[in-house]
Amino acid sequence: MRATIYTYPWDLTDEGIDSALDTIAHTAGLNSVSLAQSYHVSTYFLPHNPRRPLYWGEEGALYFQPSAAFYDESPIAPLVSNVIDGPDYMRRIANKIRERGLDLTSWLVFNYNHYLPQRYPDAAKHDPFGHLNFAQLCPASPLVRDYARALCRDIAAQFQPDEINLESLGYLHFSYGFRNPKVGVKITPFCELLMGLCYCQHCLQRAGALGLDGESFRAEVAEYLARELAAEPAPEDMQPPSAECLTTAFSGRLQTFLDARVETATSLVEEAIAIANQSGARASFFGGRDRTVNGLDSDRVLRNVYMVNAGVGGEPGALAASVRTLRDEFPADTDLSAIVNPGSFADSDALGTHLTALSQAGINGYAFYNYGLIRRAHLEWVGTHRHLWK
Ligand SMILES: [Zn+2]
Repeated sequence: MRATIYTYPWDLTDEGIDSALDTIAHTAGLNSVSLAQSYHVSTYFLPHNPRRPLYWGEEGALYFQPSAAFYDESPIAPLVSNVIDGPDYMRRIANKIRERGLDLTSWLVFNYNHYLPQRYPDAAKHDPFGHLNFAQLCPASPLVRDYARALCRDIAAQFQPDEINLESLGYLHFSYGFRNPKVGVKITPFCELLMGLCYCQHCLQRAGALGLDGESFRAEVAEYLARELAAEPAPEDMQPPSAECLTTAFSGRLQTFLDARVETATSLVEEAIAIANQSGARASFFGGRDRTVNGLDSDRVLRNVYMVNAGVGGEPGALAASVRTLRDEFPADTDLSAIVNPGSFADSDALGTHLTALSQAGINGYAFYNYGLIRRAHLEWVGTHRHLWK
């Protein structure tokens, strides 16, 4: 069974790669490392990192030196992180992971990025009022699509990972990436949905191919929102929009717009999965699969995904039902790995109870979160339960 741990490269190199991999393989007893190679901004508390207990991350960066040849068709020049100490930084880590007999997963974040929208407005999501979203890229933008494909090909060629874990490659929801948000009033879920859709020229053109006049639709949505956002919502409007509401809103044109988004985002994820599979890597998936919000058709997206990593919540007695609910959303051949944060448990026994209940509920793997974010004691706790995946 695959038992992996999400890991940031700086936590390996700050500590010493050999020492950190010893801890992962021997102390925690794990068989796979999910290594961040393209990642979003965060502020990190790193309790056992010997160099920096607090790390102010960069704005959406690559943690390897990209090979220029793969980006010929993509004018996007990504930010390369300053934690990289030379062109072989990531190759050194990847090689050592492999030498240990550990599986290597390339953990890639795509459209959640604070750096690229500032520099490439044509790649950014646009709100209905014409303003750029400075945290999200739009999967309809040719720049974004070329870049995503180039990134997958580059990763596959440079590191030959066993697995590529795709994160945030669809559309992202309204508040994804808000920083220190100042939202002082209620916003209805329907307004959040409308505000969170992308109205860039590429999204409007793709909807145009389905017969929608995208510009007049955008203008009508903007007018509706200007009116609605100014008014205090009625309690009944705080419910999520019904399927009927989505079908009939804006005389059916919202639904046409949503349908165009599904083709846009789903086809890009399919392409990334195909690149991974053609390179010999398995594809795994993390994140929202909501057709309306993320534009993803789960059946198509997961068809060639061997594993979904997902949080499986609830008390031990309720986990079997949670696992069943999740599995019902997957194709028969797609497996489920539970994301587990050992730092959220009181002690090793409590963690063991949770892991055992997940095993009894029939999960196919564990994805522990995250090497640098938990304490050494938590890694020891994980190791005491290794019989569950050995
Ligand atoms: Zn767009």
